[in-house]
Amino acid sequence: MANFQINILGCGSATPSMKHLPSSQIIDFRNNLFMIDCGECAQLTMRRMKLKFSRLNHIFISHLHGDHCFGLLGLISTLALHEKQSALTIHIHAEGAKLFKQMVDFFCRDLPFELNFNIIEQGKTQLLFENNSLTVTAFPLYHRVPCSGFIFQEKPKMRHIRGEMVKFYNIPVRCIHDIKNGADYVTPEGQVIENSRLTTDADPVMSYAYCSDTLFDHRVAQAVAGVNTIYHEATYVDDDHALAIARGHSTAREAAIIAREAQAQRLIIGHYSKRYTDEDTLLKQALEEFPNVILANEQLRVDLL
Ligand SMILES: [Zn+2]
Repeated sequence: MANFQINILGCGSATPSMKHLPSSQIIDFRNNLFMIDCGECAQLTMRRMKLKFSRLNHIFISHLHGDHCFGLLGLISTLALHEKQSALTIHIHAEGAKLFKQMVDFFCRDLPFELNFNIIEQGKTQLLFENNSLTVTAFPLYHRVPCSGFIFQEKPKMRHIRGEMVKFYNIPVRCIHDIKNGADYVTPEGQVIENSRLTTDADPVMSYAYCSDTLFDHRVAQAVAGVNTIYHEATYVDDDHALAIARGHSTAREAAIIAREAQAQRLIIGHYSKRYTDEDTLLKQALEEFPNVILANEQLRVDLL
């Protein structure tokens, strides 16, 4: 079982090509699947990576450009044919909800599952999803149309109990939960046993930020400050910086500067322009600014450890 894993379904820009597919990722968090963006071919790559449709209940669409959402209608249709039963929630900007509702009503009548749209508000930081162990928050990006990034943040975990101490003090089961949350234990005789003697540190909490598509902007670094692993679009090399500005995108170097400013541990770059035959220059220029850079690729899996 994956604890917290990023699965890259597509990391090219614009259109599907023989080399890369348009943007889409699956976050596998303790066997619950969360999709971010749904470019064409996303459902096919999901199958290739053996990611189960039945476990997918939330889809987050960053913005309404085709390379980030042309796969959505086809995926919903497939989920319907697979007799998906649990509800599906699509987190999307208002115009997208309107458009996709119409298309689903036309092409996928009588869906066997409940389909919900959760509206992402333009230009705001907004909690989109929460359960016992995870939150997903949207934050603004700076593109040619309303665009949002997403932060997947694990909640603090409980401390590990030391079995031998439980035995030694004969601690009742009903006290264990509080002790895991940091409480001391008081014996029937009134002796206080400090929590630090009864437990060891909790596992570190992990977080992941998805930043695509966006101009280079310091506000992005502020929004994702302290996140462990950042995915940032890196559409262009230095020589094409003017194109990045004109089209609302970033260079690989700029992506790396964002990771550095945010004090991330790791950067994944993607959303590559089709004009390059390989990603060597993108990687080289990113590494000049930040030491730990991974090139996204279709079917790549990255574990957050
Ligand atoms: Zn794009």
